[in-house]
Amino acid sequence: MAKYTKKQNPAGWGDATKLVRGGMDRSVHGETSEAIYLTSGYAYEDPETAERRFAGEEEGYIYGRYGNPTVSMLEERLRLLEGAEACYAVASGMSAAFGALACQLKVGDHVVASRSLFGSNYQIITAILPRFGITYDLVDGTDAAAWKQAMKPNTKCVFLETPSNPLLEVLDIPMICDVAHKAGAVVIVDNVFATPILQKPMELGVDIVFYSSTKHTDGQGRVFGGAILSSKKFKEELLKPFLRHTGPTLSPFNAWVLLKGLETLNLRVEAQSRAAAAIADALLAINGVERVYYPHHDTHTQVKLARQQMKMGGTMVSFNVAGGKAKAFDVLRNLGIIDISNNLGDAKSLITHPATTTHRNIGPEARAMMGISDGNLRLSVGLEDVVDLIGDLKRAILR
Ligand SMILES: *Cc1c(COP(=O)(O)O)cnc(C)c1O
Repeated sequence: MAKYTKKQNPAGWGDATKLVRGGMDRSVHGETSEAIYLTSGYAYEDPETAERRFAGEEEGYIYGRYGNPTVSMLEERLRLLEGAEACYAVASGMSAAFGALACQLKVGDHVVASRSLFGSNYQIITAILPRFGITYDLVDGTDAAAWKQAMKPNTKCVFLETPSNPLLEVLDIPMICDVAHKAGAVVIVDNVFATPILQKPMELGVDIVFYSSTKHTDGQGRVFGGAILSSKKFKEELLKPFLRHTGPTLSPFNAWVLLKGLETLNLRVEAQSRAAAAIADALLAINGVERVYYPHHDTHTQVKLARQQMKMGGTMVSFNVAGGKAKAFDVLRNLGIIDISNNLGDAKSLITHPATTTHRNIGPEARAMMGISDGNLRLSVGLEDVVDLIGDLKRAILR
């Protein structure tokens, strides 16, 4: 620690203080903003120092793929926010998802996952891991009996997303943890939609939480990043050996952008969630909107659970328009503010037609199983004036 670092007790801080100051490691220059250490390697004072570092007898960096001071600051800030023992930051959300699974699975193991999955999570579990002899079952995540039935003696991991993409299905985290832990399985949660501001899965019993930092953490659509939160033991014994040698390294520049993004994460997520709740209400009153999916809305099938598990309803709203793909495309064409984009968690409101984009590859049968209709649109609510967004949607839908 450098000389400008104050006495701190960061574990006792509130989220907002953690987001602004957590993990700050000032250099001898006392910079107020976190420094970007844009370096791939490190030089040693003498050969003995190099020897000690490689032997693990002395703390210090040895190579950018193994660690970087800017990345370490980000990891510590995320770790404090989550209330986890350890954090490993990586290059993207998908390297976090794959790393969390692949670091612990081997041929003969079995994975149980909720069937409503982000497209690339679905590909990893149903197409990539099976090539290495890892089998899987997908279940209706809201069905406790289905989780129980799917557990096998070789079930090593349970994987879920809540709220799910794109229909914002809310899964009962403590229930699923209970089933999984009784079967000896490790629970992994993709907490991207909820963010650590609205939902803390580890407090509900989850073993491993991961993020696409590309989404709300950056929050301004600039860089890729991901993070895995876990126990210290899991990081040291499983994640480190796997990720250091397979190389999904987070760029120090991206880590710095994400550190700056974290400083306003709570403000953005709360403002975007308030706007999303207002938009969910407004959509229901528009002619031609058949159904709205929003976790904290009274019409949501699991609203009670959603209110227990999440501080607010989140920044995403999903809705179905009458008239299928043709009408959904009309709505997208007619929007004057909201952009057509499959990205999410951005300051700019973004909307996508899941059936032809994010959920195109899984095919019509898997879409039907997940309940994703051709009239479904998924909106990521940004930071614009909510009256402008509601006006934009109204005009586009009623036209
Ligand atoms: C975007 C996203 C991912 C993948 O993250 P990348 O940073 O794009 O690799 C995983 N899960 C969910 C829910 C996402 O929205």
